[in-house]
Amino acid sequence: MTNETTENQINQQMNDTNIDNLLFSDLLPANETGYEATRSFLLKIVDILLDFIKESSDRSTKIVDFHQPNQLKQLFDFTIPENPKNIQQILNDCKQCLKYQVKTGHPHYFNQLSCGLDIVSMAGEWLTATANTNMFTYEIAPIFILMEHFVLEKMRNIIGFPNGDSILAPGGAISNLYAIIVARHQMFPEYKTKGLKALPQLVLFTSEHSHYSTKGAGATCGFGTDNVIEVPVDANGRMIPEELERLVKESIEKGHRPFFVNCTCGTTVLGAFDPINPLADICAKYNMWLHIDAAWGGGCLLSRKHRHRLAGIERAQSVTWNPHKLMGTLLQCSTVHFKRDGLLIECNQMCADYLFQQDKHYDVSYDTGDKVIQCGRHNDIFKLWLMWRSKGDTGYEKHIDHLFDMTHYLVKRLKEEKDKFHLIWPEPECVNVCFWYIPTRLRNNEKNREWEQELGRITPLLKARMMNEGTLMVGYQPLGDKPNFFRNIISSSGVKPKDVDFLISEMDRLGHDL
Ligand SMILES: *Cc1c(COP(=O)(O)O)cnc(C)c1O
Repeated sequence: MTNETTENQINQQMNDTNIDNLLFSDLLPANETGYEATRSFLLKIVDILLDFIKESSDRSTKIVDFHQPNQLKQLFDFTIPENPKNIQQILNDCKQCLKYQVKTGHPHYFNQLSCGLDIVSMAGEWLTATANTNMFTYEIAPIFILMEHFVLEKMRNIIGFPNGDSILAPGGAISNLYAIIVARHQMFPEYKTKGLKALPQLVLFTSEHSHYSTKGAGATCGFGTDNVIEVPVDANGRMIPEELERLVKESIEKGHRPFFVNCTCGTTVLGAFDPINPLADICAKYNMWLHIDAAWGGGCLLSRKHRHRLAGIERAQSVTWNPHKLMGTLLQCSTVHFKRDGLLIECNQMCADYLFQQDKHYDVSYDTGDKVIQCGRHNDIFKLWLMWRSKGDTGYEKHIDHLFDMTHYLVKRLKEEKDKFHLIWPEPECVNVCFWYIPTRLRNNEKNREWEQELGRITPLLKARMMNEGTLMVGYQPLGDKPNFFRNIISSSGVKPKDVDFLISEMDRLGHDL
């Protein structure tokens, strides 16, 4: 298409405000004069997004229009065509895509640790996408790099690391990996050049209820999963310090070197908090690094009412804290913090000359790219900063307190309906609420092992009904000797008491005859 025909076409299209037959080549940047067409296209996109947001917060709409993968393959055109599709088709693709997407911001979505759609954070993500920069150097992301400094410093102050260093990582699993490699670097800096053979057999400890990423990092780092020892937990899912010490001694007797303890604050299923102070004492005694995986529970630090769950956190050497969980920041936003400054860069820097020239005309300590095992990094800070600005510390505290208030309301309601619901851990520490739903036929049975097995069998059947109806989403899993049970999460600030009431009545409506 020549420029002339393009321009004629645009003028004509603009006249009847129809841009649908345009092609990508009629928009910026391919078409230098394509601003009006671009604007019209993007306004239509925003309308599509606004429709999705409206539906997500409309309690009468479904959360999901569920289809099996084979059906979805038929319904949706995934192909990449040989020739360009016009803008109308592109707009249609966007609409179709959202039609089948789960509305994770819907107030009846209780499925994951990340629920809800914070509008300011989302606006931040839109801006981030538009600025489209990379976080490795100050040179190309000056505002965002300084913003990272401010926000991460604030988070360290909240933790109780007045100095130190931090980085945003692509998720809590990678943040935990950072903690492990930095701990190893501090104790055995020769690893960096000599590799694993230069080291004794290193051993890590984590609770049997902890997130699988510690085990995964053990495999990735070459320690082997056999050397990531799972420490038993008590009846509430918290690591037992005496068991940790026993296992540490055992591994010393074998000639191994215990070096890292992962203390979980907010376990993934139960939401339990390992006791930091006794674990810190053991780490001090045996010269081990204490890492706190507060990917989930970290948000409690923002609430005066709830931060006591992490008492002693400042004794750790490192902390993982995911704002994309309790704090409701858009995915992804994960942070890892170190008490000691300088370690992260020492551990990871490779001094690539083409990015991190030392003779730049600004303070190159702001080039964060050499601190990380990635090269480029996505801008995950702006959506957090903007959200925090919009709430202030007081608003964030209210946000966290609200999630706990709604959780307490849910627990109270489940206790009131105890013929229909069996709470497995009656006093949850976090916003995880674990329970079985009891269908009519099992309500008067003796609560023995067989009864539990039967409830465990019913759990996925009820989940399937929820998905097919599309009205409610709650996750489930087995844990230890407990067969499948529901784990309800309230991490969306949009959840109100009426949504908790809906959860209870809808489960009963869908499940009573199972
Ligand atoms: C979610 C979670 C992780 C992993 O975080 P991602 O961002 O999903 O990688 C690690 N640890 C705990 C305790 C978690 O809850």
